[in-house]
Amino acid sequence: MKTNLLSINSDAKTSKGNTGYLTGILYLTPAGQAGLKNLCPRASDGCKAACLYTAGRGKFSKVQQARIKKTKYLFEDRESFIDVLKSDIRILIRQAKEKGLKPAVRLNGTSDYPFHRLIDFEAFKNVQFYDYTKIVQKALDHANGKLSKNYYIVFSRSENNWKECIKVLKAGGNVAAVFKNELPMTYNRFPVLDGDQNDSRFLDEQGCIIGLKAKGDAKKDKSGFVIWQLKLNFTAQAKPYKLYPLNDGILIPPYIATV
Ligand code: SF4
Repeated sequence: MKTNLLSINSDAKTSKGNTGYLTGILYLTPAGQAGLKNLCPRASDGCKAACLYTAGRGKFSKVQQARIKKTKYLFEDRESFIDVLKSDIRILIRQAKEKGLKPAVRLNGTSDYPFHRLIDFEAFKNVQFYDYTKIVQKALDHANGKLSKNYYIVFSRSENNWKECIKVLKAGGNVAAVFKNELPMTYNRFPVLDGDQNDSRFLDEQGCIIGLKAKGDAKKDKSGFVIWQLKLNFTAQAKPYKLYPLNDGILIPPYIATV
């Protein structure tokens, strides 16, 4: 049976990594695009311009049209939308069982909407829900065990929220950050994990930066949303260069970054 709203293992990241999960993602239209209501209340100028919405399949207008249609549906008939979504989650559970996998659901693939207030995640106790968010209270509530046990949250760094990132990291949560070049070992002294290996964020170690490489329009970012890494020819030994994390907020022009 086909799902209506959830895309199942449809992007490269959810289908790779072999983490044993079948993942359904809901893709909507973020931050007031196409004249629709803003689904990302804490979006920054940098993240809006660089949004994942423009990456991968999202850059094709047919895909964007489908996302606009779903977003309109959410606003025009929320009750029916949630019913269809729940039915999609049940389909995902069946498909995962047939494949010998565990079901995972990310409802904010390209949005930051409070679906956790509209759906009782614990009623789907075998499903692992997860999201990235820019809403610090939501990330702190997760880190402090105040949300459903099967709902995992990663806070997302943007060009203007590093203090909030620190709060989340200190509370034991993780923070996703986008990097222009290779991922560094650490960023502002926090260990960096490669978030592009798979999308099963709930399996990550805690208190870490989840490093993602810039994709889509993010590659052109100059706002500070994407972190430029300085490559320096510091040692003539085995490694040709070392990557040095920059203090947050400091921008390095492209010509320096490629030295
Ligand atoms: S908050 Fe996330 S989904 Fe929304 S515009 Fe920013 S990057 Fe895109």
